[in-house]
Amino acid sequence: MSSLDATATAISRTHAPDLIPGYRLESLVGAGGMGEVHKATQLSLGRTVAVKLLSQQLAQEESFVARFQKEAAALAALHHPNIVSIVDKGSTASTYYLVMEFVDGPSLRERMRAPQQDPQETLRVMLQICRAIEYAHNRGVIHRDLKPENILFDEQAGDLPKVTDFGLASFLEDTSTRFALTSTHVAMGTLSYMAPEQRVDAKTADGRADIFALGLIFYEMLVGELPAGSFEPPSRRKPGLDPRLDRIIANCLKQLPADRYASVTELIRDLEPLAPHYTTLRPAKLNRMQRVGRAVRKAVRVLLQAVATLLVLSAVGVLGMAYLRTTERRVPMTPGNALTGDLGPASADRLAGRLTSSDGEPRKVVLGEGPDKPSLLVSGRPLELNDRKLVFPAVEGQSRVGLMRVDLPGMRGDTARLAARVDTLRPAPTFFETLQHAVLHDPLPDSEVALLLMSPDPEQKRYVALVYGGAGTPIRLEWSLGEKQGTMLGPDSPQGPVELELAVDEEGALVASLGTKGDKRPILEPLQLGLNWQERRFGVAPVPAIGCIEGICQAENFSYQVKTLPPKPAGAVQASAAVRVEAPRAAAPPPVKKPAPKPAPAPKKRSK
Ligand code: ADP
Repeated sequence: MSSLDATATAISRTHAPDLIPGYRLESLVGAGGMGEVHKATQLSLGRTVAVKLLSQQLAQEESFVARFQKEAAALAALHHPNIVSIVDKGSTASTYYLVMEFVDGPSLRERMRAPQQDPQETLRVMLQICRAIEYAHNRGVIHRDLKPENILFDEQAGDLPKVTDFGLASFLEDTSTRFALTSTHVAMGTLSYMAPEQRVDAKTADGRADIFALGLIFYEMLVGELPAGSFEPPSRRKPGLDPRLDRIIANCLKQLPADRYASVTELIRDLEPLAPHYTTLRPAKLNRMQRVGRAVRKAVRVLLQAVATLLVLSAVGVLGMAYLRTTERRVPMTPGNALTGDLGPASADRLAGRLTSSDGEPRKVVLGEGPDKPSLLVSGRPLELNDRKLVFPAVEGQSRVGLMRVDLPGMRGDTARLAARVDTLRPAPTFFETLQHAVLHDPLPDSEVALLLMSPDPEQKRYVALVYGGAGTPIRLEWSLGEKQGTMLGPDSPQGPVELELAVDEEGALVASLGTKGDKRPILEPLQLGLNWQERRFGVAPVPAIGCIEGICQAENFSYQVKTLPPKPAGAVQASAAVRVEAPRAAAPPPVKKPAPKPAPAPKKRSK
């Protein structure tokens, strides 16, 4: 609590506790030029208040009574968190009194005695005092006695500075009061904080006198003493202080009011940028444990932010990559194209199987079981033999396309039959695929498995592929045989696994079928390859193959068989060649063929 101050005229008297009806005086907390301030209890509300009593001596003088009343009027006109509020006023038989909120804490004078004032904290306090004075000025009230003793810190309210003692306050438009006080203010006021013009003629002092006092208080808070004469700028007195403060304080302390800030608002405008994290709350004083805790929390926060940023960046990166990959994939590419594209070097493999030859030439190959180990060429993705099934498992980060060719060049024949029971599975989408799907609205990639007859030399890129993409998607036939290229869409596929067959009959018609034995049905219009189709369309005898795009593909009962027909009489060959029509109008990619009337359900365009 504030002590009796050397700068004020101390009047020490004791009073009966029940001097003022409704209040009980508890203890003397301070004394100023006008009288005593007591800590008291307001009996009606049971709360602590401050009672300021005009000294009995001064109560005899009209001017002091007027001034006392003015202080009450000034306080009553002001309602601001940084200004002490008034509760009541009145008079007793012997004197006058003023009841105010009780500010429980030290004065700025006492605070300034403590060493090492934090400049940021000084700014915080200063800005709040400035706000209070700006507010008072805007209501026409000038304090005229601003000094560290008249600023009290309400520790209960978060160390809020509060301006008190509006005893010398004047209402700007009230010249009579100003005049009435002229003769006494020098004796009662505190010269050290008075603006030059106020010392000479109090009547002329306006709000800029308060700005001068604010400049002095600010300088003293920062430097530790009052500036005198042509004072040194604060930042030179206290190295480390923000040099911008020098100009601000100099603008407050100009001798001529006209050279000072014209208003406290202007002063605040200059001060605020120096305290960017301005808060009305004083930073809490932390003990060692609390400081360590705060540092740890801060470090964890920073770490979490960094991790979050990294996650977001990598998600964006992966999405970007995925997007690029998708855009790449979006380049119209048929399964056949994808399967005959560059899949990197092929690796030779051998799986269980059965090989049948005649006349020293392979005629039939079956994969999955058997005593032989036919040679295979696998490119793109690895291939596994799993319970008699050939499986292209889903492999993260590897080629999305896998191709297995049976390494049996020379399987010459007039007819051929390639069959397998195939199925395709889409593994659960990865996190990024799901994200990509959700964000970019990209469809999840389809998984497709294909039965192929292809030229043993990959460079030739000659193939016929029967592609199954899972239930609901149409089965398709694709071919690229030199100048002869095309696509046919078949009926929607049933749920896998499905039995697929590609057969070339003795007239060189390639027929795609679905199902086995009794249930086997052609699904597409026959593709006319013509006689001598192997050399004619593939260059040499093609090899059978299985391809897989995306997901997991599997094939069982994989078999390929060729037969050579006995030579026909010359006339018959000519006749049949003359009648035979060339392959259906299939030409430039990708025409969608209408089905022949017989083969089952209507082919249709693929939606994707
Ligand atoms: P004067 O007008 O006589 O100079 P002040 O208003 O400055 O009197 O008050 C004198 C002292 O009383 C102050 O320095 C302060 O310590 C104390 N004081 C004044 N007002 C309050 C208040 N509202 N709450 C607590 N203490 C106060």
